[in-house]
Amino acid sequence: MTSDCIFCKILDGKIPSTRLAESDLAVAIADITPQAPVHALIIPRKHVASLNDLTAADRREILPALYDLADQLARDKGVRETGYRTLINNGESAGQTVFHLHMHVLAGAKMKHGFGA
Ligand code: AMP
Ligand code: ZN
Repeated sequence: MTSDCIFCKILDGKIPSTRLAESDLAVAIADITPQAPVHALIIPRKHVASLNDLTAADRREILPALYDLADQLARDKGVRETGYRTLINNGESAGQTVFHLHMHVLAGAKMKHGFGA
């Protein structure tokens, strides 16, 4: 728990959220400003600011856990076969606004192609 981190507060139950799925290592919540019919954030329980802050050991443990939960969520939402997009914004130029690592999962409609500058 990092006291000034909004996602740590959400994980700690200090800020309300809609929980969609959880595992030992990560929690999936509904994004407060959804960009698609299904828009979840898969958040590791451990506070890590961004991909750059993962240790090699974290990378081997946390990243697979994010994809495991995305797979479970896609099954639960019935979008696994139709398709879903996963996205991690890493750093300010990439559009990261919350500096607690998280993976977006977007689905439920045909995604627009293209996500460059
Ligand atoms: P990013 O721009 O990749 O850092 O994504 C941050 C995401 O967090 C955005 O899509 C926001 O809509 C979402 N977000 C911010 N605050 C909350 C919150 N309190 N509950 C759920 N999602 C949030
Ligand atoms: Zn945090």
